[in-house]
Amino acid sequence: MTAETQHGVNASNRLASLSPSRASDYKRCPQLFKFSAIDRIETPPTVYQARGTTAHLALERLYELPAAERTPERLADLFREAWQETKHRDYPDLFSDVESERAWGIESLAILSNYFAVEDPTQIEPLSRELDLTEAVGDMTIRGILDRMEETPDGLVITDYKTGKAPPEQYAMSAFFALKIYALLIRIREGRTPDALRLIYLTGPTVYQVPVNDAQLDAMERQLEALWAAIGRSIETNDFPTRTGVLCDWCAYRDICPAFADEDGSST
Ligand code: SF4
Repeated sequence: MTAETQHGVNASNRLASLSPSRASDYKRCPQLFKFSAIDRIETPPTVYQARGTTAHLALERLYELPAAERTPERLADLFREAWQETKHRDYPDLFSDVESERAWGIESLAILSNYFAVEDPTQIEPLSRELDLTEAVGDMTIRGILDRMEETPDGLVITDYKTGKAPPEQYAMSAFFALKIYALLIRIREGRTPDALRLIYLTGPTVYQVPVNDAQLDAMERQLEALWAAIGRSIETNDFPTRTGVLCDWCAYRDICPAFADEDGSST
């Protein structure tokens, strides 16, 4: 395939920019990265994506309210309002009937209410919410949206919300990969290194928080440069190996993945 026929690369056969989630995709499986970032194959929206998008919007808006109004009832209202927006914009055909939409809504509100078990939003004043970060790292541009950042007794903390279930603790460190990239972007933009990274999983709920320092971010910068070079080589040679594992069962591209071509006979 030539540069001209690939959708995700520019005329110099390079990606214009890389997001933390796309970087995670390449690390997890280069073929997955190709499907999503190069071929840009759209996958049908899922109820989990709809829940994540809507919950993020509700949590962002919760912090627009005066502290005393950040209650479970207001958060539920914000979720309902946000769903009316995201439903018509992004998920018009997600539910085939009112009953399944209603069941999804009830389950989503129950998950969202877990938020108050892990944080007291009346005690938090974020420095930023949904912060759009676009920064040069070496010769690449990294772009992503950081959920939240605030000063805490532990110092400057950056937070990512997840509506899903937390991975077991022994696998949690890899979940911090994207947040470490955000910490690097904050260091570049603000000239200040965050002190801690926090992942909030609302299903459970579970909070993982780890400290972060300059040495780790220096290592992340080197890792990103190596990843960027590897992506460049993959694009040049059109070589995106499959990397099978347990996560294939949740991969949106499994049905067209060459690794499973023999199994279901549907892959190209
Ligand atoms: S199914 Fe597995 S091997 Fe195939 S693209 Fe997805 S993650 Fe990669």
